[in-house]
Amino acid sequence: MSARIIPVEPFDFVVFGGTGDLAQRKLLPALYHRLQDGQIPEGSRIIAASRDELDTPSYRSLVLSSIENSVPEDIRDTPLLERFLQLCHHVTVDAGSELGWDALGALLRGREDHVRAFYLAVAPRFFGPICEQVGRHQLVTPLSRVVIEKPMGRDLASSKLVNNAVGAVFNESQVFRIDHYLGKETVQNLMALRFANALFEPLWNAAHIDHVQITVAETLGVGGRGSYYETAGALRDMVQNHLLQLLCLVAMEPPESYSADSMRDEKLKVLKALRPIDADNAARLTVRGQYTGLNTANDRIPSYTEEAGLSRSRTETFVAIKAEVANWRWAGVPFYLRTGKRLPSRVSEIVVCFRPIPHNIFDQSSGRVQSNKLVIRLQPDEGVKQWVMIKDPGPGGMRLRHVPLDMSFAEAFGIRNPDAYERLLMDVVRGNQTLFMRRDEVEAAWRWIDPIQEAWEQDDTAPNAYTAGTWGPTRSVALIERDGRTWHEETV
Ligand code: NAD
Repeated sequence: MSARIIPVEPFDFVVFGGTGDLAQRKLLPALYHRLQDGQIPEGSRIIAASRDELDTPSYRSLVLSSIENSVPEDIRDTPLLERFLQLCHHVTVDAGSELGWDALGALLRGREDHVRAFYLAVAPRFFGPICEQVGRHQLVTPLSRVVIEKPMGRDLASSKLVNNAVGAVFNESQVFRIDHYLGKETVQNLMALRFANALFEPLWNAAHIDHVQITVAETLGVGGRGSYYETAGALRDMVQNHLLQLLCLVAMEPPESYSADSMRDEKLKVLKALRPIDADNAARLTVRGQYTGLNTANDRIPSYTEEAGLSRSRTETFVAIKAEVANWRWAGVPFYLRTGKRLPSRVSEIVVCFRPIPHNIFDQSSGRVQSNKLVIRLQPDEGVKQWVMIKDPGPGGMRLRHVPLDMSFAEAFGIRNPDAYERLLMDVVRGNQTLFMRRDEVEAAWRWIDPIQEAWEQDDTAPNAYTAGTWGPTRSVALIERDGRTWHEETV
């Protein structure tokens, strides 16, 4: 069985920052795969606009090495790669001056009937100036869209400024705020499981779900991004966007349809229902951590401050939060969120833990009856597993066993799991905003985050230290264990 490809109309994809890391590692490889799958029609163009002084042939050489670095050799194809390079163009443009804007305008002129996507793969300080220039040079057509990446501000006030600057030139229906987690196959599968089955939804509430865990763990440290990270921290960098978006998809009410505004209306209600965390309860409901270095047999893993080149810092590289969605469906059900850098493994997953059975009919020799869990794994090995109790097969009496029912089908269907960017970039071209965040959602998320950040700033204590390569400070374990629960660990 092969994936069904829905063609899109020919487009101009203008990537501001088209020579940067995001473009090279994610955007160009994603577009290459869409061409490979036959989704990019004749007459489409990828126009990189960056400050680098490159002509189109030199840019194509750069694209060639990006593709060679990110697309495995066995699925590369020389004629296709040549076709891909022919789609790519470069214009030298400076966001902060007049340099290059006329040339970009000239390249786009006469193509007003094509979809025109402006992807702002540049530092956020350029979002406003680029939108303003795009508007002033009359490059925005009715078929235009703009895509912005995190960080969308560092608090509610700055996020409003970004949104105002973008909104001065583009209508909200043209703005695509990307959170690539939403483009992941398993995140979509969560929607299918919840809303295309009669099985889960009746159980999807406080009566049957004990708690939910959302973990986004990275093994890497901040590396060369220390100066950016010092202005952000894990709460702003990960929780405000990725973790809260995942929480919304778990907790939302069934939307009226799988359309952009129905979905986003329901996610917004979840964000508004989050019980506030502020100076009164932050010490009880949140844990901050920062990794310290580790000497190994023949190496040293640097601490956060060493990597960031600072003598000391109060920036958190780890955060755990016990959140609650205060509404009829979820009252009393904790949502434990945890994310950090330099943790033991790179894993992103949602674990929905069901309540224990009300009465055990089996005697002790059968073994412990464990609660059902639905584990939605976003990376690595995207997939969904429903943990159930079964009878251990074969003779030996009634012995019980906790096993995962594997509901991941990409392999069984012989399908390559596309990168989230592939789906999201094509949604931009199609004008489908379902998997993108609306302005009010982003702002509601900041409205919940800001008091937590403020509570931490008022607090004199430093983040709790944790050794690189461990699961964060011990207080994170205590956060969940004092409720009689444990962080999920895959055991099979
Ligand atoms: P980068 O530093 O690698 O690239 C920056 C790009 O911006 C370059 O192409 C550069 O030529 C261009 N540029 C710089 N100044 C300019 C100017 N005055 N006018 C026009 N172009 C200019 O950055 P990046 O890592 O690709 O990140 C870009 C944005 O995407 C940032 O906002 C970042 O936070 C966000 N982001 C990046 C990643 C990632 O994986 N790299 C992931 C999520 C979000």
